[in-house]
Amino acid sequence: MAITRFAPSPTGFLHVGNLRTALFNFLIARKSGGTFILRLDDTDPERSRPEFADAIQRDLEWLGLNWDRLERQSERLGRYQKAADELRNQERFYEAFETPTELDLKRRKQLNMGKPPVYDRAALSLSDSARDRLRTERGQGVWRFLLEHGRVEWTDGILGDVSIDVSSVSDPVLIRQDGLVLYTLASAVDDIEMGVTHVVRGSDHVTNTATQVQIMEAIGGAVPSFSHHSLLTGPKGEKLSKRLGNLALRDQGIEPMALLSLMARLGSSDPVEIRGSVEELIEGFDIARFGTAPTKFDVEGLRPLTARYLGGLSFDAVAKDVEALGVPDRIARQFWEAVRKNITTREGMNEWWALFRDGAEPMVDDADRDFVAEAFALLPEFPFDSGTWSAWTAAVKEGTGRKGRNLFMPLRKAVSGRERGPEMAEVMALLQRPPQYTPHRSE
Ligand code: GLU
Repeated sequence: MAITRFAPSPTGFLHVGNLRTALFNFLIARKSGGTFILRLDDTDPERSRPEFADAIQRDLEWLGLNWDRLERQSERLGRYQKAADELRNQERFYEAFETPTELDLKRRKQLNMGKPPVYDRAALSLSDSARDRLRTERGQGVWRFLLEHGRVEWTDGILGDVSIDVSSVSDPVLIRQDGLVLYTLASAVDDIEMGVTHVVRGSDHVTNTATQVQIMEAIGGAVPSFSHHSLLTGPKGEKLSKRLGNLALRDQGIEPMALLSLMARLGSSDPVEIRGSVEELIEGFDIARFGTAPTKFDVEGLRPLTARYLGGLSFDAVAKDVEALGVPDRIARQFWEAVRKNITTREGMNEWWALFRDGAEPMVDDADRDFVAEAFALLPEFPFDSGTWSAWTAAVKEGTGRKGRNLFMPLRKAVSGRERGPEMAEVMALLQRPPQYTPHRSE
């Protein structure tokens, strides 16, 4: 049984990029009947905000990505200190005093000499007295983890065999000068202590994985399996805009299942198909089917998926929304059946109901004015029913000699004020008042 976690830093809103990470971890846990942990990486009190933490939770709830356990790193600081002590005991942790400017200078020198800009470990060779002097002059130093030079290798769920040469990586700072424990340590400790079995995250974390594997091995515990998914780009391969928050998508009427259906397949070898429920997504999900190339995301793709999702919704799934609109019970089901394939957002049903309730502004081409006036004079008695349209059009055909599209289209436009919509028999039956047409002559 898999234990996975989604570990956002509550320093901003959830966006489609990290939503994808959340979904993959969720699906892996659910598929195995395991545990999905929501872990808030909030060790940084300056950048983490409760309102972001709340918004992230609300977004996940909206999507139906329910977690089994909520953890906050800010409540686990003692654990990280313990792990830091353990690393000190093992002499895998050392204090360093270089200022950012000094580090920058070192990096530039290395680059000038054509060397990789890796921290030179100068702090390791400080004598005790030199260290004491620096501490007096500069205060506490940062704490760096002493990497074991060599290769860290793992079989990645997406990337396949990965081998990272750690000698090209600087010993990571795990505790800042002000005592703040950084993500690299906190996350490694949590993944071990929470028994996380699978970590799925963006490919920007590959180097982190190499160092975290070494930290985990040093602390001791089962190292999880790792999968690094490609990053999302905009439709043309450009950097994904930050504005693509879920909240914005929600305001545009995008349905959660449209977003989840797209995200669960985008970038994989499986086709994107709309699914009716999270359960259906779980069935077909396989992390191994995802590719390594950057994945293009286009918000426009969500609109047809939303329409398809709504088109497939049963009346029971929307009964409350329909009732809230004020559609009378006796026609509520009929109303939904008529409109569900003719809306692009849930809100779209409001427009249809307004049309059935109040009537539409007729859409009449100049050439059709007399015809429509003649046809409206032949309208059957109100109230209408499912036979009204055929009776009416038969009478109009006889009276005017028009037939086919020439007959139906002007009537559809005149009655509903638009060119497309449900079957006209259904439209007529749902009208709450007879349609009106008063020809206004422009001449
Ligand atoms: N808080 C980290 C981030 O948002 C988590 C990365 C991870 O999954 O380990 O990038």
